[in-house]
Amino acid sequence: MKVNSQFDFIIVGAGLSGLHLSYCFLKDEYFKDYSFLIIDKEKSKKEDNYFSYWEIGDVKG
Ligand SMILES: Cc1cc2nc3c(=O)[nH]c(=O)nc-3n(C[C@H](O)[C@H](O)[C@H](O)COP(=O)(O)OP(=O)(O)OC[C@H]3O[C@@H](n4cnc5c(N)ncnc54)[C@H](O)[C@@H]3O)c2cc1C
Repeated sequence: MKVNSQFDFIIVGAGLSGLHLSYCFLKDEYFKDYSFLIIDKEKSKKEDNYFSYWEIGDVKG
C-alpha cells in the first residue's frame, strides 16, 4: 500500500476539538478534494475522558 506523505491539512491531536474539526471538514463539500492527516501523540486512547453530564435548559450567568 502506498502511503501519502503530503497532505493539504494536518490536524494535530485527535481529541474532542481535532475530531470535531475533522468531522466538519468531512461534511463540508468545499473540502472534498483535500487530503487530511490526523496525528496524535498517544498510540491508543485511554478511556479517561468520559462525558458524564449534560445541562438542559437556559444557561444564564
Ligand atoms: C475525566 C474527565 C471527564 C470529563 N467530563 C466532561 C464532561 O462530562 N463534559 C464535558 O463537556 N467535558 C468533560 N471533560 C472535558 C473534556 O474532555 C475536554 O474539555 C475536551 O476533551 C477538550 O478537548 P480538546 O480537543 O481541547 O482536548 P483533548 O480532547 O484532550 O484532545 C487533545 C488531544 O491532543 C493530543 N496531543 C496533545 N499534545 C500533542 C502533541 N504534542 N502531538 C500530537 N497530539 C497531541 C492528546 O493526546 C489528545 O488526544 C472531561 C475531562 C476529563 C479529563
